[in-house]
Amino acid sequence: MIPGLAVGGLCSACWAKLVRRARRISQWVAVGTTLPLALYMTLSLPHDRTSRLVAVVSVLVWYMLSSLIARRVALEWLQ
Ligand SMILES: [Zn+2]
Repeated sequence: MIPGLAVGGLCSACWAKLVRRARRISQWVAVGTTLPLALYMTLSLPHDRTSRLVAVVSVLVWYMLSSLIARRVALEWLQ
């Protein structure tokens, strides 16, 4: 293996650039899908403590999952 070459034939500088772009795209995707979900949760769930906690936790989990998935998909596309 040639030093400085990462998996997929990209050098480490190009790979880092790709990862940064993928991260930015995935953040937008995550925000764009989480906002409607948060709005829906706010409107549909009753305003008691437990429901709010459930809403906050599911929104956070959704944000993390969607950004993870979007980052992976974006990396595939950008390569
Ligand atoms: Zn390069």
